[in-house]
Amino acid sequence: MVDEERLPSAERRAKDDVSYREQLAYVLERSPFYRTKLAGVDTSGGLDAIARLPLTEKRELKATCTPENPFGSHLCVAPSELARIYSTSGTTGTPTYIPLTEDDLDNWIAGSARSYGASGVAAGDRVVTTYNAGPFVAGAALDAFARIGVTHVPVGTGSSERLLRAIEALRPDAVVLTPSYAEYLLELADLRDSSVARVLVAGEPGGGEPALRTKLEAGWGARVTEAMGIGDIGPSLWGECEEQAGMHLGAVGFVHPELIDPETGGPRELRDGATGELVLTHLRHRAAPLLRFRTRDHVEVTTSACPCGRTTPRVRCIGRTDDMLIVRGVNVFPSAIREVVSTFAPAVSGRILVKPRSAAVKQEPPLPVAVELAEGEEGSTSLGAAIRQQLRGVLLVRTDVELVPWGSLQRTEYKSRLVDR
Ligand SMILES: [Zn+2]
Repeated sequence: MVDEERLPSAERRAKDDVSYREQLAYVLERSPFYRTKLAGVDTSGGLDAIARLPLTEKRELKATCTPENPFGSHLCVAPSELARIYSTSGTTGTPTYIPLTEDDLDNWIAGSARSYGASGVAAGDRVVTTYNAGPFVAGAALDAFARIGVTHVPVGTGSSERLLRAIEALRPDAVVLTPSYAEYLLELADLRDSSVARVLVAGEPGGGEPALRTKLEAGWGARVTEAMGIGDIGPSLWGECEEQAGMHLGAVGFVHPELIDPETGGPRELRDGATGELVLTHLRHRAAPLLRFRTRDHVEVTTSACPCGRTTPRVRCIGRTDDMLIVRGVNVFPSAIREVVSTFAPAVSGRILVKPRSAAVKQEPPLPVAVELAEGEEGSTSLGAAIRQQLRGVLLVRTDVELVPWGSLQRTEYKSRLVDR
């Protein structure tokens, strides 16, 4: 039997269409949120007509939370049917509670196991993880390692010394961490000759940026692959295979991906090279299914055949809508600025901080950007000018580059902040 990740695309589409129709009927029967939202909307037509449905925004869901129902009115089951309740880590505002039935949880783990399994980690490998993920959605990703059958060494964050000691003493085959933390550890230790052959990064964009990836692969002497999820839909939905050309949809069959124009919300075809905001629909969810949920992740899509044999679409995350700025009509992602700046290594450390002059999305040029110098680098006017020129050439944005000394921008065991609003 062909496994889920290798189904011919027409067969995949047919299966997902059946799941989608069932999911939609389930939601219309049980979800007060969607009964209201979809009143008067033509819901016929299956996946081919999914773009007729309105998009779902996170704030709409939050607005329906009450003291009696802290999950929101999209809850479709009795509270007693819930097997687990996660929180989103709440980088913005108050946490959201994510309820799951036993089946939901099992599907999450199955999808996540595929995503991490794509990286090449396999039963018998020793894997150190660093997520303090117990209460958070990423906690289910940790269960995925048990599903794959690896020897799991949960170290958590909080002590880099403890982590480095575990790497030295236990000689793991792989480590799982954010790209920011993977980068920071290279400042603390020489890991080129460590046992680690695979560095699995997730939690924020960056692991797919060529300059950062090159730095991590050289520093760790290991292959770097990335994974990505979104709290409200599922953990590590996407995971990169050993071809290292974008993250495959590991949650295939559980989630249907779409692409939209982030400004108009209009659909964009999911085809090779297309970019846009990722929109996801649950296909087999029970506790609190979501339809056409805006992830606020901007991605570039690859749909062509992958040499690994998986037929699932691949994405690379370009940045988060929440971080996006518009300078004279040009969309600018701080992660894209970092990518351009990183090409000036070894003069720069690769760390940047964008400092918009106002809280608005739209900014007047020049956009202020702090660029951290590499250790021992003095910096020069010509370096600043060269970076400015390159940013203008590649991203079409005029910046005001301030070179700051090594060590002056934040180091983190979790996610980097790229914009100081
Ligand atoms: Zn592949």
